Amino acid sequence: QQISKEVMAQTKFFKDFPKKGINFMDLFSITTKPALFRKVIDALKTLIEVEVGRPGEAFNYLVGLEARGFVLGPILAMEYGLPFTAIRKKGKLPGDTIVEEYKLEYGSDACEIQKEVLDQSSRVLILDDLLATGGTLCAAMNLIQKCDGAQVVASVVVFDIPALKGRDKLTKACHALISLD
Ligand code: 5GP
Repeated sequence: QQISKEVMAQTKFFKDFPKKGINFMDLFSITTKPALFRKVIDALKTLIEVEVGRPGEAFNYLVGLEARGFVLGPILAMEYGLPFTAIRKKGKLPGDTIVEEYKLEYGSDACEIQKEVLDQSSRVLILDDLLATGGTLCAAMNLIQKCDGAQVVASVVVFDIPALKGRDKLTKACHALISLD
């Protein structure tokens, strides 16, 4: 794929960040290049239409995961004329929230969403920058399913790392623009 080649040539990877052994893909090395960023957004739209379906029909709500899902989600929401909301780490959203705890390699973490934002009419497409072990997306999918009958349709990421088998944890499909082998 052309977009994959272009992105890989222009994206910075930071070795051993935030900890040893992680080769950190930096989405902001895409957003700082407007022409490349435009191409990535257009490629995501094509991926979504092909793999998920028509906006407003196959899905009618976009949810972005902290923090880089907040970069991608609202752009697509504006282009589609659909609502966007955020899933954040616990303690950062005002008002009543619904919480989902999840296990990390060491210890646990929790994410949350505002109450009464999603309901049984919500068919959600989740956005994030990267699928690694799948822990974050799995928690987000479980959290959305707790929201008054809302349904997760699928998730979309810019990058995935198939070797980490993140998809094995997920109950719904995750579509990636670029696979890091
Ligand atoms: P997972 O829960 O699938 O192991 O990790 C995915 C989450 O961690 C995503 O929210 C993603 O933003 C972040 N993450 C993990 N590795 C990387 C990486 O190499 N680059 C970026 N940008 N984010 C990462």
